[in-house]
Order: sequence, then C-alpha cells, then structure tokens
Amino acid sequence: MDILVVLEDNRGVLHRMSREAIAGAQKLASNMNLSVGALAIGENADTLANEVANTNMQEVLVVKNELVASYNADGYAETINQVIEQESPKIITVGHTYQTRDYFPRVSAKLDIPFIPDIIGVRLGDDPVFNKQVFNAKLAADLTAEADQVLISFQSAAYSEDEIESGKPLIREISVNLDPSLIRSESEKPFQEEAGEIDLESAEVIVSVGRGIEKEENIPIAFDLAKVIGGEIASSRPVVDSGWLPLFRQIGSSGQNVSPKLYFALGISGAIQHVVGMKGSKNIIAVNKDSDAPIFEIADYAVVGDLLEIIPKLTDALQAEKD
Ligand SMILES: Cc1cc2nc3c(=O)[nH]c(=O)nc-3n(C[C@H](O)[C@H](O)[C@H](O)COP(=O)(O)OP(=O)(O)OC[C@H]3O[C@@H](n4cnc5c(N)ncnc54)[C@H](O)[C@@H]3O)c2cc1C
Repeated sequence: MDILVVLEDNRGVLHRMSREAIAGAQKLASNMNLSVGALAIGENADTLANEVANTNMQEVLVVKNELVASYNADGYAETINQVIEQESPKIITVGHTYQTRDYFPRVSAKLDIPFIPDIIGVRLGDDPVFNKQVFNAKLAADLTAEADQVLISFQSAAYSEDEIESGKPLIREISVNLDPSLIRSESEKPFQEEAGEIDLESAEVIVSVGRGIEKEENIPIAFDLAKVIGGEIASSRPVVDSGWLPLFRQIGSSGQNVSPKLYFALGISGAIQHVVGMKGSKNIIAVNKDSDAPIFEIADYAVVGDLLEIIPKLTDALQAEKD
C-alpha cells in the first residue's frame, strides 16, 4: 500500500482521531491515485481491524506480538519501523494524539524519515503540500517533504470521520521480530479522569462556558440552558483553573476533544487551545460581546451580546416552548 494509517487503541476501541486520519488518508489517496492501508497493533488488534472492516482501504495489517500487547513506546516504534521496512509505504499517518507524540518521533529518527506533525490540511498538486499552524496558530505554514517517504499526523478534526468512504479491505496478520531487551519502558494504564456518569465525547449537545461567565455564581445560567435542551456542561480552561468546574469538563488541547451535533460557546474567545478540542462540532453557536472574538471565525451562528442577559431569556423561551 502507498499510505499507511497506524490505528490507535483507545481502551479497547478505535480512537476517534484514527478514523479522522483514515478520512484524511483516503482524500490524499483519491487525489494522488494511491492506495490506503491500516495497521492494528496489540491485544485489541482484531477489534480495531473489525472497526475498519467496512472502510475503503486495500488492506488492514494486524500485529499481535505479546511485547506490544499493550502500548509501550519502544515496542510500538520498533513494530512500525519493521512494518515500514516490509511494506514501503510512501506516507505513514496517525492522529496527533498524546500517544503518537510519544512514539512517532522515534520512528522518524530511527528510519530517518521526515515527520510533519499536527497538520490541518493538504493542498494537492504533483507533490502534496501540508498545511499546519505555527506560532500558537498566529501563522499558517506550507510544508513539503524532500524525501521518498514522510510521516504525518493530523490535528484533531482536520478531517471528519463522516467523510470516510466505505469498502472491504483484506485483513492480513503479519509478524514482527521484537527482542525483549528493546522494551526499556512500561506504560501505565491510560489516565482517566473521574468522570462519573458524564461522557462528553459522545454528548450530542454541549453548553460550554468561558471566562465570559464572569463568576462562579453565574455558572447555573449555563446549567439551566443545558437542562432545557438536554445538553452536557463543558468549559474552557480558565473556568476549570478558577475551580468553578472540574477538569473533566475542560475542552481543548489539555482537556477533552468533542464533536457534538451542537456546541454552545458562551463567553469563550476562541483560543486555538480551546478550538482544537471542539472544532469538529457539527454546529457551533457562539455568544460573545466582542464582535471580533476569534470564535466567530468558526461559529455557524454568531450572537454578539452579553450572555448574562441573552442566555436566561433563551432558556425561558425554550422552556416556554416545552411547557
Ligand atoms: C499549553 C496550554 C494549554 C492550554 N489548554 C487549554 C485547553 O485545553 N482548553 C482551553 O479552553 N484553554 C486552554 N489553554 C488556554 C487558552 O490559551 C486560552 O487562554 C483559553 O482558552 C481562554 O479561555 P476563554 O475563552 O474562556 O477566556 P478569554 O480568552 O478570557 O475569553 C473570554 C471571552 O468572553 C467574552 N465575554 C466576556 N464577558 C462576556 C459576557 N458577559 N457575555 C459574552 N461574552 C463575554 C470576551 O469577549 C472574551 O472573548 C491552554 C493554554 C496553554 C498555554
């Protein structure tokens, strides 16, 4: 295959960003007339392979070596090195997750293949031009690789899993030769916030509050709206840092990634660290009293005004509709 997508095991299921990486790889492939394949590693490799068994790919490779039954950076890097050497893909791609940040640079260093991380899109021509944000998203950069092979990672929501084309790939088990002495580190179980009953990742409606809520006593304004529309509460980082909401409700680069059908951004400016966690939302309604707030660049509906006045009225109107 020409483009290899390395799948990520997220507690026994396929990571959402692996699906987005498949969508990106398929786009690249169809424009460049290339073929796509995927690689599933570890004790859940069969489950991951099954999850992509209906997508348009040439084949899904499965590696089940016991030294990579669960994630460890040394084992993963060496496994992927060997698969690249066996299969010679031109482009090797992943979602830009914490896990891939851990092992992908090792693959780049060991095989001397350039790595272009965190890309947000690709401009296609004779050679693909990869776009990424630099200097805290103040500038956009276009990058090309002067090499026969390149590693790329896609930023969250660069492509949508809704764009995945369906098909029937072959599933092929392959073996790698790993020596126990290679494994110098052991990973702990993935960190999981105590989220109780809250599952923001699968919430269809999210009401998210930012510093514009002004003080802790105003937080119930958001809860009231969420209750009427059946949504979950989330927030930007300053709200969590102030102790007004717990960390598991934080959206963004150091919080959760969500892609609900509807995301209310209330008093959130739209800093890149927040936006990467929610820009995959299908509809974004932003309420902000600053008409130049960057959140309006990605909002589907922009409401310029004071949320402390607007949201209680909206909640009352929606409640009245229900009664
Ligand atoms: C390494 C790193 C990681 C980070 N990770 C994250 C992360 O995971 N998630 C995250 O969110 N941030 C993160 N941040 C912080 C990020 O850079 C921003 O500082 C943060 O997102 C801003 O939050 P905010 O939009 O709520 O606040 P602000 O930027 O202060 O914006 C508040 C907005 O509210 C509006 N406003 C004020 N009053 C009202 C009102 N009454 N009605 C309507 N609008 C009003 C203002 O016009 C303003 O646009 C991170 C930063 C760093 C350096």
